[in-house]
Amino acid sequence: MTIFQKIIDGEIPAEKVFEDADVLAFRDIQPQAPHHVLVIPKKPIVSMAHATPEDDALIGKVMRIAAEVARDAGLEQDGYRLVTNIGKNGGQSVYHLHIHVLGGRQMTWPPG
Ligand code: AMP
Repeated sequence: MTIFQKIIDGEIPAEKVFEDADVLAFRDIQPQAPHHVLVIPKKPIVSMAHATPEDDALIGKVMRIAAEVARDAGLEQDGYRLVTNIGKNGGQSVYHLHIHVLGGRQMTWPPG
């Protein structure tokens, strides 16, 4: 079981900014920007590499909620970044699909 499943199940605390039946958004415990939220499906999809066609609507919703989280944080005018890391080389450390919402500072490209 991943740490994000424990957050979904309420076994460990998180600073939630959005929750409904399908999606949860909470603040990253080690923020990499002034605003850093993780948006996850409650369904335990390992990563985008594990998504199936039946997940299309759910993942679309996760992405829309990520944009709403950014809008609610006032990030839209200056911009922000949505990122999902996949596997070892992608830098994934928690194997439950999540979208990072990063904002409040200038992002660089390419990412390190
Ligand atoms: P990734 O490296 O893309 O898999 O991202 C995992 C993210 O989860 C990292 O940014 C961690 O800081 C974050 N994280 C790990 N444990 C927790 C937790 N208990 N609450 C909030 N964020 C967490």
